[in-house]
Amino acid sequence: MIEKYYPDLYYDSIRHIDLENLKNRGIQGLILDIDNTLVPMHAKDADENAISWIAELKNKGFKVCILSNASEKRVIRFNKDISVTAIHRAYKPSGKAFLNAAKVMGLEPEKVAVIGDQVFTDIIGGNKVNMLTVLVKPIDEKEILFVRFKRIFEKLIIKSFTENVEDKINKRLDKRIEWKKNSLELEKSRFKG
Ligand SMILES: [Mg+2]
Repeated sequence: MIEKYYPDLYYDSIRHIDLENLKNRGIQGLILDIDNTLVPMHAKDADENAISWIAELKNKGFKVCILSNASEKRVIRFNKDISVTAIHRAYKPSGKAFLNAAKVMGLEPEKVAVIGDQVFTDIIGGNKVNMLTVLVKPIDEKEILFVRFKRIFEKLIIKSFTENVEDKINKRLDKRIEWKKNSLELEKSRFKG
């Protein structure tokens, strides 16, 4: 079913995310992707935009955990200027990765939102474990071939998601909440940690 690919929210960039809206939805912790979400692909260090936005998150009282499939070295270097909890080699979209990040923040999955640029890693993974999922547009369009290939399908999903979003949200909200809860139970039973 296509709904497992749908984000709950979709914004142009991290700066466009309505943080008050997240608060109002009971969100206390944020799982953040690095590449093409916080910084352009292959940027080694956090830039001013990422540093100041994460400072704003902390000021607003959010707990923050970086969840990246990148190497330990890469994640440690990126995190040196922002100093948040961070998990490397996460194997997103594994549900375990997301449950682990929630555990690190000391929060129930329902109180966590996932923010990322990829439907097939960030969104599908967050959806599996009943987290609120927030898709942002990728910062950098220059991507490796495999990711570019996935984007073709992402575009189709996003198009279908945005075409009649109101109608879809109303129709599937209850069904989706139920589905996310069931999916969370399944993932939890697999997650030992
Ligand atoms: Mg990314």
